[in-house]
Amino acid sequence: MTAFDPAPPTVRAAGDPSAAEGMVFHIMRFATHDGPGIRTTVFLKGCPLACLWCHNPEHRRDLPAVVWDGRRCVGCGACVASCPTGACIAAAGKIRLDPSRCRRCGRCADACPAEALERTERAVRLETLLETLERDLPFYEESGGGVTFSGGEPLAQPAFLLAALEGLGRRGIHRAVDTSGYADPGLLAAAARRTDLFLYDLKGIDPVKHRRATGVDNGLILENLARLSAAGAELVVRMPLVPGINDGHEDLAAAGAFLARLPRRPPVDLLPYHRAAAGKYRRLGLEPPLSGTSPPAAEALEEAARLLSSFGLTVRIQGEAS
Ligand code: SF4
Ligand code: SF4
Repeated sequence: MTAFDPAPPTVRAAGDPSAAEGMVFHIMRFATHDGPGIRTTVFLKGCPLACLWCHNPEHRRDLPAVVWDGRRCVGCGACVASCPTGACIAAAGKIRLDPSRCRRCGRCADACPAEALERTERAVRLETLLETLERDLPFYEESGGGVTFSGGEPLAQPAFLLAALEGLGRRGIHRAVDTSGYADPGLLAAAARRTDLFLYDLKGIDPVKHRRATGVDNGLILENLARLSAAGAELVVRMPLVPGINDGHEDLAAAGAFLARLPRRPPVDLLPYHRAAAGKYRRLGLEPPLSGTSPPAAEALEEAARLLSSFGLTVRIQGEAS
């Protein structure tokens, strides 16, 4: 980490004073790619990284609380009428939010009869979340599944995440955390005491390329991965494979050599880059990055898996990059 990196989350992160309420942008039930069995994945808002291939741009805290889809809008004005601050404005056939007046309450989206306004976040009380997650206990038990926290970066809401992990532990529910590993080691250790499995993203070994692709240095990320491995944490390493970014022979060989040196060699999931998030970016008013990049060919994926396997690693090819 260098002086100009965004600060990694700590146990007491700025802007996260409360364990009682978290900011969530999505909850996905019956997920099958975020750990073992059938799971519910909770996507928490916020992330200190800015990966070029991010397929969950809704995590960004700088986005408006609500986004408007003009194709669905029927022009009824219910959103404007519902806004308590006058921040929701109809002009020239469009709906616009004035960020200086918006209190992020989401009433305009709730009032819309056409689902033309979509919330990019929702404040969720801890007890409400735990009760919701517990409802799928029979599915978790039947399938060997549980709950996965993802994002964004779930460690960016440390107090809420730790409290939620504890609450799930008390209910006997398997807990996974999908993390970039860019966090204060003390926070990661606290999470490890409450987590059954880490899905740990490894986006690259070369520090210069890593910074270019994610906005941060990878020194802390690699150190934390080694620490977790030495502490005996259950780990699956997730490697996004993004053509022209981190799929070179040297990149993969360096990753293989690093992982093979860990105290406990983790299994590796390869996540091929895809362009499915382009529509989401556009709905959020953002230009999709890497729009000229194609997903890796099947042969390239198999070759990458073969190369990593040659380091004694167990490698699976998964559905998508994170
Ligand atoms: S989120 Fe709330 S304050 Fe902001 S525009 Fe919508 S109704 Fe108004
Ligand atoms: S409530 Fe929905 S459909 Fe009606 S004007 Fe607002 S965005 Fe359009």
